[in-house]
Amino acid sequence: MIITCKISEVRELVRKWRSEGHTIGLVPTMGYLHEGHASLVDKAVAMCGRVIASDFVNPTQFAPGEDLESYPRDFDRDCRLLEEHGCHAVFHPDVSEMYSPGYATYVEILSDMPKQLCGRTRPIHFRGVCTVVSKLFNIVTPDKAFFGEKDAQQLAIIRRMTEDMSYGIEIIGCPIVREADGLAKSSRNTYLSPKERKAALILSRSIFLGRKMADSGETDALKITDAMRKLIESEPLARIDYVSAVNGTTMEPVREAVKGTLIAIAVYIGKTRLIDNFTV
Ligand code: AMP
Repeated sequence: MIITCKISEVRELVRKWRSEGHTIGLVPTMGYLHEGHASLVDKAVAMCGRVIASDFVNPTQFAPGEDLESYPRDFDRDCRLLEEHGCHAVFHPDVSEMYSPGYATYVEILSDMPKQLCGRTRPIHFRGVCTVVSKLFNIVTPDKAFFGEKDAQQLAIIRRMTEDMSYGIEIIGCPIVREADGLAKSSRNTYLSPKERKAALILSRSIFLGRKMADSGETDALKITDAMRKLIESEPLARIDYVSAVNGTTMEPVREAVKGTLIAIAVYIGKTRLIDNFTV
């Protein structure tokens, strides 16, 4: 596997791959990789001749006071996982490689889409995500890019941005990978103490409850989110940020839970903010 931290080297590599006739897949990540990330790489390897992952903790998507400094990092371990899953290259730039002094250009969706759900408590988050993904698209120029449904709002926003900016890149969504007990895999799960790790199961339990209600024909979104909310509130270590039903494409709040409705939650377990979701 090729490891590079230079934009110019990525461009050169991609030029070579293209000249050899390969389709190119991009898997953007912030590192500290787990089986959720690996599932994106697996899908990319299955669908593309060459796959490049990016491993970059992007500062512009963190607000002051969020966990930018403490975000877990282990690049050597990441490389081992990527190589095991057949990834061909990893791009691991410094902050200065991505954001040169005087950097002043951002990509931002101006509708309410990035203001809903996570955008309520993280107002600059999706501007940072769109900016870094846009830069990665320009650097790698992939045919396909792979994102997890775990971050459903991010996936919808990337789809919107890709369409709006005419990138001509196919966006592939990949299902949520969970721990054996149900907790959605996340790099942030490492923040949890053993007691909090147990309490965090309330997220997936509420997702499974909501999904069961929707599967049995409940279409009143409020009934579903209320039941999920009650269950989460029964866990003393949990503090709800949101439990919401929105249109899965536009992120607009909805009253009816129909096919394509996204039911998404964000819950603090102690100081750690975790997210989960399902789509009806
Ligand atoms: P991150 O490193 O957390 O920014 O995530 C990088 C990519 O991996 C994003 O597209 C995430 O949605 C995806 N991802 C993270 N966790 C999971 C998971 N448990 N299942 C599926 N995809 C995931």
